Amino acid sequence: MTAAMIPPGSTIGILGAGQLGRMTALAAAELGYRTVVLTPEEDAPASHVSALTIHADYTDEAALSHLARVADVVTLEFENVPAEAVSFLEGLGKPVRPGSRVLAVAQDRVAEKDFARSVGGGTAPYEKVDTLKALIPALERIGRPSVLKTRRMGYDGKGQRIIAHRDNPVEAWDAIGGKPAILEGFVNFNREISVIVARGLDGATRAYVPVENRHREHILAESIAPAPISRELAKQAEALAARLATQLDLVGLLAVEMFVTDDGRILVNELAPRPHNSGHWTIDACMVSQFEQLVRAVCGLPLGSPERHADAVMTNLLGDDVNRWAEFLKEPDARLHLYGKTEARKGRKMGHVTRLAPRQDWR
Ligand code: AMP
Repeated sequence: MTAAMIPPGSTIGILGAGQLGRMTALAAAELGYRTVVLTPEEDAPASHVSALTIHADYTDEAALSHLARVADVVTLEFENVPAEAVSFLEGLGKPVRPGSRVLAVAQDRVAEKDFARSVGGGTAPYEKVDTLKALIPALERIGRPSVLKTRRMGYDGKGQRIIAHRDNPVEAWDAIGGKPAILEGFVNFNREISVIVARGLDGATRAYVPVENRHREHILAESIAPAPISRELAKQAEALAARLATQLDLVGLLAVEMFVTDDGRILVNELAPRPHNSGHWTIDACMVSQFEQLVRAVCGLPLGSPERHADAVMTNLLGDDVNRWAEFLKEPDARLHLYGKTEARKGRKMGHVTRLAPRQDWR
C-alpha cells in the first residue's frame, strides 16, 4: 500500500447529497468505505445511505471543520459548491478531489471554453460578455442565432437564452438576469454526446465509451450507450476527454459534453468534474461504474475497467414518471434506480431506468 492510498474502512466526505452523492455512497459502501455528506438540504437522497449527514451551508466553517475531522478525503457531487468551501478544506490540509483549481475552470463557462481551446479542443465561437454594452458588438461578431448563457451557476438550460434573428438582445440580457455571460454561436449539431473519464492519483485515465444524449425541455431524457458514431470519432472524443482531465491535473471524474457537427467535428460544450447523469448506465452495463471509479480515484486505488458488458439505454424518470415504477420492475431487461425523493415536482430527477441489450461489438 502506498502512502497516498486511503484504504477501505476509511471515510469519504461528500459536498452535496443529491442522487449523485447517493450513488457514490452506495459504491463506496461496496468497497468498505463509509461516507459523510455535507448538505444544506433536509432529507437529501444521499443522507439515507450515508453514515453521517452534516446539515449546514457550504460556507459554514464549523461544519466544514467537522467534515475535515471525520473524513479522510473529500469529494463533491456538483461543481457549483462555493470555491471558498473547497479552499477552506484544503487550508485545513484535507485533500479535496477534484480540488479548487479544477472548480475554478468548471464553474465559469468562459474559463471552461478558454481551457478547452488551450488543449486543442474545438468549441463553438464564443465571446465573454460582461455588460449589456458589450453584448451588441459581440453579437455582431458571433452572428445569429446565438446563445447567451450566464458564466456561472447554469444547469439544465437555466440561465440561457437563444438570440434568433428577430430577437431583441436586451430582452435576452434581462432574461438571464443581467449577469456576466458568454455569447456562443448556435451549433447546428448532428447529435450530442458525452464522455466520462476517470483519472487516478497516479495520473492514469480510463474513459467510458461515448454516449448519445437526448434532451427534452433542456433536461437529459435519455443516454444511449454506445453513441452511434464511428469508432474513429469515439476514440477522438475519448482522447480529448483524457487530455482535458490530464491538463486539469484532475483526480476523480470529468464528464465532457460535446456536440458532433454534420461535418464530423467534435466541439466541447461543457465540463463537469463529478459523476454525470449520462454515466448512470455504467452501474448496470460496465465492469466498474462511474461511481466506483470516483471512489477508487479519490482514494488513490487503481482505477477499474470501464469496459461495458452490455449495450444500454438509460432513461431518466422525471417528476410523475416515477409513479410507473411497478411497470419497470416487470421488464426483464430493465434495472430500476430510485433516489428516495418524496416530492415528484415537474422535471425533478426522481430515478432512472437502464435497459440492457447484448453488446453488439463484443471484443
Ligand atoms: P448547457 O447548459 O451549456 O449544457 O446547454 C444545454 C443545452 O442547450 C445543450 O445540451 C444543447 O442542447 C443546447 N445548447 C447549448 N449551447 C448551444 C449552442 N452553442 N448551440 C446549440 N445548442 C446549444
